[in-house]
Amino acid sequence: MSTIGRPAFGNNPDERGFFGQYGGQFLPPQLEKPFAEITEAYHRIANDAGFIAELRSIRKHFQGRPTPVYHARKLSLSNGGAHIYLKREDLNHTGAHKINHCMGEGLLATYMGKKKLIAETGAGQHGVALATAAAYFGLACEIHMGEVDIVKQAPNVSRMKLLGATVVPVSFGLKTLKEAVDSAFQAYLADYERAIYCIGSVVGPHPFPLMVRDFQKVVGIEAREQFIELTGNLPDAVTACVGGGSNAMGIFSGFLNDPVEIYGVEPLGRGPAVGDHAATMTYGREGIIHGFKCYLLQDEAGEPSPVYSCASGLDYPGVGPEHCYLKDAGRVNYVTISDEQCKEAFFKLSRQEGIIPAIESAHALAFALDQARKMRTGSILVNLSGRGDKDLDYVLENWGTGADA
Ligand SMILES: *Cc1c(COP(=O)(O)O)cnc(C)c1O
Repeated sequence: MSTIGRPAFGNNPDERGFFGQYGGQFLPPQLEKPFAEITEAYHRIANDAGFIAELRSIRKHFQGRPTPVYHARKLSLSNGGAHIYLKREDLNHTGAHKINHCMGEGLLATYMGKKKLIAETGAGQHGVALATAAAYFGLACEIHMGEVDIVKQAPNVSRMKLLGATVVPVSFGLKTLKEAVDSAFQAYLADYERAIYCIGSVVGPHPFPLMVRDFQKVVGIEAREQFIELTGNLPDAVTACVGGGSNAMGIFSGFLNDPVEIYGVEPLGRGPAVGDHAATMTYGREGIIHGFKCYLLQDEAGEPSPVYSCASGLDYPGVGPEHCYLKDAGRVNYVTISDEQCKEAFFKLSRQEGIIPAIESAHALAFALDQARKMRTGSILVNLSGRGDKDLDYVLENWGTGADA
């Protein structure tokens, strides 16, 4: 049976794309029609048996799903307390969960008769995953990226080009993610008959928070079944890191209606001062960014605040609207982990289990290790959203090899 379009928790979103008071569609008038077209197409196509069968086949034969659930036994025993299990999204083709929604968006584009995918990217991870999907489906791909990020993320720029994408340098403003979004929206506006805009997380205007969640739900559905098969029970707790919140919505969706504690882990970076972290749920207040309403790190005038994290995939001042709803509903706990705590977990997993995690995912693991010690017994399932190969340069330059850890 299709799981697409069914609400994860509560009856959300409503037909205008609101999860409680969050989400919606705050668009310039010219973009209302193209987004309405995407919404209509998604609701029609998502329930099409051919679409569902093809997406399943892609997941199995191209992405390498299902990804395993792994009991990190050595790490658990050395840590003490509850046992740690990992949902291995790092074993996806391209090394992270983003391919789950990029393949869905690419398939939707082909069903809609579009010829081109347009998106922005910050650190380049979404750009690489989307360029991969475009190559698979034989679609053109245009990725907008700030000039500052192009210099910082040179290997990902090369990957996108190798995959056949066009990387459009953005040279106005601060030349980073925010300007890249503006540039990508402009390009989409000029080309929406032929192209589709592809958002990289459960953020942006309706229907993207709904659609990206639906494409990521496979993580939670698989993990629940696998965990029960492995242990005979549900986990006592589930954790995932939260940037925009797509990997977290994916795994959380499988457990929202179960008696399971759920924790979303945000980056505290260097500390709680403005500009030193990206802990949106903890320090943000309601605002509008990139066409939707959410908790937002912002100044007095409502402008997004500068954000920082050692994990470039987590440094976004907004967050997915469904997370905001789940926080207010008291169903999910949102907590923080600093760069220092993340670093410790990164080395532990590498050395004790032979798994080098993405720095983003190491945030979820760091919290799980703390929580496991508090719990004493039981089990925690961590969504290991990606592998750390992309982070090697950063780690060697800033943290070393951990030989003294
Ligand atoms: C992009 C990224 C994230 C953050 O994105 P979400 O939408 O919050 O999941 C987390 N982990 C990895 C490995 C990423 O590449």
